[in-house]
Amino acid sequence: MTNNNLHVDQSHLDAVAAELRRGARVLVITGAGISADSGLPTYRGVGGLYDRGNAPDGVSIEQALSGAMMARAPAVCWRHIGEIESACRGAVPNSAHTALAQLQAVCDVTVLTQNVDGFHRAAGSRQVIEMHGNLHALHCVRCPYERQVADYAGLDTLPPRCPDCGALVRPRVVLFGEMLPDAAVAEYHRVLRHGIDVVIAVGTTAVFPYICAPVMDAARRGLPTVEINPDETELSPVVSHRIGGRAAAVVPRIVATALALG
Ligand code: NAD
Ligand code: ZN
Repeated sequence: MTNNNLHVDQSHLDAVAAELRRGARVLVITGAGISADSGLPTYRGVGGLYDRGNAPDGVSIEQALSGAMMARAPAVCWRHIGEIESACRGAVPNSAHTALAQLQAVCDVTVLTQNVDGFHRAAGSRQVIEMHGNLHALHCVRCPYERQVADYAGLDTLPPRCPDCGALVRPRVVLFGEMLPDAAVAEYHRVLRHGIDVVIAVGTTAVFPYICAPVMDAARRGLPTVEINPDETELSPVVSHRIGGRAAAVVPRIVATALALG
């Protein structure tokens, strides 16, 4: 059960802020938890999408949201993607997203996100790696047609069809069973080669190896590592600073202190 009644000691936040020295190369890894404070459902957290069990079509959420389903029965896949999109509709970035953008004033910040809501860029973060893509970027599976949409309300039909060639149009997101986007992976490796001074994980269960690895690796090398999550995860025993609090309550306080110091 996500613990909402949390007190976070200012001294813990001060210790994290002190790691965010001017010019520090900071990798911030974010998951569905950072957008939970904007009212979006998480996947595995309490009240998350997986908790609903099988989808009405008699298939699991993982099957419904798979590349195979998009190829075989796009209407089923689109119905579920549409549900996620309608849960996001009207939601806006929260104070945690905004604070990470403000941190750019003193640090070299890269945000590696698993979220598909586009909130980091909307909040002003410039160096964002969207590892699982973005719900608002639509593209044709056959021809170069692409379109950015604010939401899916204006789409005539679901699944949408390409106005140029008539083939299926889909969001540029990574469905279950699909590969990560080459450009995002290349950018992620470039950031790792460039070097990292501090790693901060916010609101992720961190089950994917490419999410865990930089935190584990940094911890092994004795670099400062931070987890901000009301609940414990596999990262909790590994990080040097574990902050048991909600993203929107904790991140702005850390960033305000770092800006005051920097
Ligand atoms: P997850 O649902 O597996 O984990 C969410 C984590 O956030 C949990 O550990 C939970 O304890 C924590 N959390 C809940 N409320 C929080 C808060 N207010 N502040 C900080 N932490 C909080 O999500 P995940 O690790 O990102 O991985 C699952 C997949 O879900 C990803 O592939 C991602 O693409 C997808 N997803 C994206 C969105 C989105 O774009 N907003 C939403 C749901 C799922
Ligand atoms: Zn087309």
